[in-house]
Amino acid sequence: MKANCWFGRHDVRVCEVPEPQLLNPRDAVVRVTSTAICGSDLHLYDGHVPTMKEGDILGHEFMGEVLAVGSAVESLKAGDRVVVPFAISCGRCFYCQRGLWSLCDNSNPNARVAAELYGFACAGLFGYSHMMGGYAGGQAERVRVPFADVGPLKVPAGLSDEQALFLADSFPTGYMAAENCQIQAGDVIAVWGCGPVGQFALRSALLLGAERVIAIDREPARLSMAAAGGADTIDFSVDDVTERLRDMTGGRGPDACIDCVGLEAYGRSPDALYDRARTTLGMATDRPTALRQAVRACRKGGVVSIPGVYGGFVDRLPLGSAFNKGLTFKMGQTHVHRYMELLLQLVQHGRIDPSFVVTHRLPLEFAPEAYDMFKHKRDGCVKVVLTP
Ligand code: NAD
Ligand code: ZN
Repeated sequence: MKANCWFGRHDVRVCEVPEPQLLNPRDAVVRVTSTAICGSDLHLYDGHVPTMKEGDILGHEFMGEVLAVGSAVESLKAGDRVVVPFAISCGRCFYCQRGLWSLCDNSNPNARVAAELYGFACAGLFGYSHMMGGYAGGQAERVRVPFADVGPLKVPAGLSDEQALFLADSFPTGYMAAENCQIQAGDVIAVWGCGPVGQFALRSALLLGAERVIAIDREPARLSMAAAGGADTIDFSVDDVTERLRDMTGGRGPDACIDCVGLEAYGRSPDALYDRARTTLGMATDRPTALRQAVRACRKGGVVSIPGVYGGFVDRLPLGSAFNKGLTFKMGQTHVHRYMELLLQLVQHGRIDPSFVVTHRLPLEFAPEAYDMFKHKRDGCVKVVLTP
């Protein structure tokens, strides 16, 4: 079958690879009908994630039709249409039982590698390095889905692929990021990054009762999409973000700040240039410009919610500012399983139509071009859907 494989920095290729097999009784094999490129894939594409190997199949935001199930999977049968959470979770361990699905203790066979870096490992993730389990991803014609009795959500017939696909990742990620802000009536929420995660975060913040959302980016198409979703916007290439946020909040700062940028933030401020130089020289792992701004801008006693991915050690994080302002930090890989049903209902009741985020549709064969376009945000690209 065909799959989009990683070969190195800025090098992905659509190759012929072996068919996935049922390996365990709780597995399913899914024929992928739609798959997206996520901002997290860019961290792999840009070479920021260790333990990738040549030929690894990418992709963790996908949906499709069940082709076969193992003997222990009673909840699914061949022919079911499903969307699959990007994190793989057993459903039975200490963490899954507490709803901390992305921290599953049983789904990462290489947990020891991740634990060396992080103390403990998170769940296995589709298509996201060997440290995260070494699972083949869903930018492929077919994919093996472990623990298929707890992960995949059946998609009702009335919904299109593009209305359901983002339940796998970007929509719950934006939603959990907003939920983590503990929004109260009157709250102003600032969102750094208007990629797909930022788009879902800002809409979720409004759904959860925020009075006002202020979205920050420099890409015109992304800022317009944020405005269409109900946000006020700041172009960080034009304005001083911290100053603008103060002005817009009567001098107090946003009640919560959401960092939907992660470790590859852009910027021309001295700290951003310092990060750029140090990461280029291999002396640092992450470029936390947006996170620093979020910490500084947040009002006293506020929340900094971090869905954006960080990988290593963050330099010059103003922890003194965070401490003395009494901030709360919330972060992590999304507990997708916890949100899928709820968000599906919001879609079914017409509260949100996630397909708004799709700007480009291409056959899987064009994955290399699609990665390049998405990375450089060419042609107003916000989200690409690939069809195998
Ligand atoms: P994306 O790359 O499309 O979007 C990032 C946006 O941030 C871009 O529009 C970029 O212009 C903007 N940006 C860059 N520097 C900025 C700055 N200094 N200030 C404001 N905006 C800035 O990616 P995405 O798909 O929206 O994902 C966003 C982040 O969320 C990534 O780090 C991704 O890995 C992460 N993510 C996390 C989870 C999770 O489980 N926590 C799930 C999905 C994605
Ligand atoms: Zn993702």
